Amino acid sequence: MSSVSPPRAWAEIDTDALRHNLNVVRRVKPDTRLMAIVKAEAYGHGLEGVVKALDNEDCAFYGVATVSEAARVRDTGVQTQPFILGPCFDGEREEIVQNNWRTALSSLEEAEHFNSLGALYHKPVHVHVCVDTGMGRSGFLPSELPGLTERLKQYPHLHLEGIFSHLSAAADDISFTHGQISGFTDAVNVLSANTTYEYRHLCSSAAVFNYKVPCANMVRLGRILYGYSPMPSPYNKELRPAMTLYSRITLIRTLPGNHGVSYNHCYITKGCTKVATIGIGFADGYLHYLSNQGARVYINGQYCPVLGRITMDQIMVDVTYMDEVNTGDLVEIMGPNVSWEELTRRANTIPSNVITSISARVPRVYIP
Ligand SMILES: *Cc1c(COP(=O)(O)O)cnc(C)c1O
Repeated sequence: MSSVSPPRAWAEIDTDALRHNLNVVRRVKPDTRLMAIVKAEAYGHGLEGVVKALDNEDCAFYGVATVSEAARVRDTGVQTQPFILGPCFDGEREEIVQNNWRTALSSLEEAEHFNSLGALYHKPVHVHVCVDTGMGRSGFLPSELPGLTERLKQYPHLHLEGIFSHLSAAADDISFTHGQISGFTDAVNVLSANTTYEYRHLCSSAAVFNYKVPCANMVRLGRILYGYSPMPSPYNKELRPAMTLYSRITLIRTLPGNHGVSYNHCYITKGCTKVATIGIGFADGYLHYLSNQGARVYINGQYCPVLGRITMDQIMVDVTYMDEVNTGDLVEIMGPNVSWEELTRRANTIPSNVITSISARVPRVYIP
C-alpha cells in the first residue's frame, strides 16, 4: 500500500494536468487572459490545492461562487484575487470591499451599495458589469446599459474593471450562441463609448475552442481546466483529466445462485458469484444514479460490473472471473480506464454533476 494513499477512497489530483490544460488553452488563444474557476471545491478537486497548484500560472483571477470561497482563496496566501461570479447578499458586500475582491455587478442597487461601502472604507471597488445576453440568471439587460454608464459616473468609488456575460447553450445551440456573442459585442461597444476598462469576458469551457469573440480578452475556465471539454474539438484529445478516484476492496465473498445483491434486490446472482465489496458509496459522491446502469470499475487490469444499487458507503462488484483478487486491492472508480464521460453517460447526468458530487469524506491527494 502506498504511504500517501488513504486506504478507503481517495481522489488523486495530478496538478501537472491542471497546468497542462491551462497551457493548451493558452496555445489556442495566445492573447487571452485566463480566469481559473475554482468554485465548488474546484469542481471537486479541492479549492486550496488547485489554487496553490496554479500559483505561478499567471491567472488573472480565481472564479468563485461565494464570499466564503473567496476567503479561502485569500487564506491560501496567493496574490491573485478571487472573482465572485454571481450576486451576493447585501450583508456580504462589506467583506468584498474590505478585501478588494472582484465582483459581478447586476443592478443599480448593488452599484449604489458598493459605492457607499467604498466611501466608508476609502477603497475602490473593482466591479465587472454583468450583461444578460440570454442566460436569464443575472446581469443588466442590454436595454439598461446606455443609462448605466451615466449612473456609474455618480459612483466615484466604483472602479469599472470589466464587462462580462454568460452563454446559456454554447454546446447545443450554435445560432443562439452567435446571437449572444453579437449581443455581448454590442454591450461592449455601448459601455466602451464613455469609459475604459480592462477585461471583457464571455466564453467558458463549452465555447472556448469553438467560438470566436474578437472583442473579448479573457476566458473563464472550469471544466477544461479539470480536463473535460463539453464540445467536440480537435483540441480535446490534448486535455488531461486531473482526477483519478480510487478505492479498495474491503471484503470478498462467494454468494450462491439466486441471491439478491444490495437494496431491493435489483440484481440477483445467476449462479455462484464471487462478490467484492468496495469502500465507496453515494455519500462519497459515487452517484446513486449509477445503480443498475451497467457501471463498472477497474481492478488489476480488468473491468468488473457494479451489482445492484449503490449504497451510502459501499458498492458490490462481480469479481467471479478475476484471475487474482484480494482484499485491499486498488480499485479505479474514475480515471484513465473509467472516464468521467462514461460515468456522466451511465448516470444520465451532466459532467459537472459527477465531479462536484465527490464529497468531503474523500481525501484529495496532490501529485506535485
Ligand atoms: C461556473 C461558471 C463558469 C465555468 O464554466 P465551465 O463550463 O465549467 O467552464 C464560467 N462562468 C460562470 C459565470 C460560471 O458560473
